[in-house]
Amino acid sequence: MNQRIVIKIGSSSLNHPTGGLDESSIENIIKIISEIRSQGMECILVSSGAVAAGVGKLGLSTKPKDIAGKQAVASIGQGVLIEKYAQVLDNYDLVGAQVLLSRNDLADSCRYKNAQNTLERLLKYNVIPIINENDTVAVEELCFGDNDKLSALVAGLVHADLLVIFTDVDGLYTANPKTHSEAHLIEKVEDIADVRGLAGGAGTQLGTGGMITKIKAAEIATRFGIGTYLVNSNRMNDLPPYLHGEKLTGTYFVPSAHRLVGKKRWIAYGGLSEGSIIIDDGAVKALAKEGKSLLAKGIIGVEGEWERKELIRIVNVKGTEIARGLAELSSAEVIHAQGKHSEEVLSLIPDLEGEEIVHRDNMTLMH
Ligand code: GLU
Repeated sequence: MNQRIVIKIGSSSLNHPTGGLDESSIENIIKIISEIRSQGMECILVSSGAVAAGVGKLGLSTKPKDIAGKQAVASIGQGVLIEKYAQVLDNYDLVGAQVLLSRNDLADSCRYKNAQNTLERLLKYNVIPIINENDTVAVEELCFGDNDKLSALVAGLVHADLLVIFTDVDGLYTANPKTHSEAHLIEKVEDIADVRGLAGGAGTQLGTGGMITKIKAAEIATRFGIGTYLVNSNRMNDLPPYLHGEKLTGTYFVPSAHRLVGKKRWIAYGGLSEGSIIIDDGAVKALAKEGKSLLAKGIIGVEGEWERKELIRIVNVKGTEIARGLAELSSAEVIHAQGKHSEEVLSLIPDLEGEEIVHRDNMTLMH
């Protein structure tokens, strides 16, 4: 049975198309949460809608395009949003807590643990954590990018049993249903690799996501071992019965059989990388198909600067991320070592512990 559920609701489901909170959606989501809680389960809500609510409050016609403008409307809207949640929760005798997270909070192990402890305590107090990105201080390199990804990382943080992403479509289709009449809903995804190509980039006017960010979020959560359901927000009322075993229309992403744990999880989705090592096709095959460590011979380039044991990306010649890992050498040392045979590297850098530049135990494949 699902005990702990992370629910993500997007801006398009919470706001009128031109901005401004749609109060009935907030009432509905809280009603659902209260029902789920009365079934003995815990809920964490990841709610977007701050930017859109701010746009509505200021009476703007669109969301600002510049960073300061977006951050300003987010700080206006977050207050509006949380106030509305608090009012509605009160009607159900429930208490909510605003939790604003920044990307760095999940990258640094001390802050990660701290966020985890706080959320655990809130749940122990029977409070509903209402999480959003700390938009006002997020800058491009240091933000989650979208709340879909944030919800997957939060699901990992709280060891959720299920992630439900409410959105404005019925789920993932075999093609765009607006343009392809033969398109049909995919009810179950066993392997993300089968569906990666299906998402177009577009999102709505107010949110930042689109199908691509939902698939990426499902990929993260399922690699954490958490099943992920993509459901139309107009079917919200079907969620509590589903948790009793009824059918739910949407797309369910099955948890991965190769669950990432501990350090491998942090390497893939927690830590922030300092740079990239570019590798040739032979090394791509050795890493991705044969489960090998990265040796100097297959390295053809370096981007960025890092010190020994820092987190880096490993990319192919086209820039596609193949893996992430902890580098045994600094970026300057990798430049000396690249393309060379291991014996030569070991004689050049005698204190290198083994021949591996990134050991497979300190590496997570990303595809
Ligand atoms: N954090 C943003 C907001 O609350 C939304 C991000 C997203 O749409 O994914 O408005």
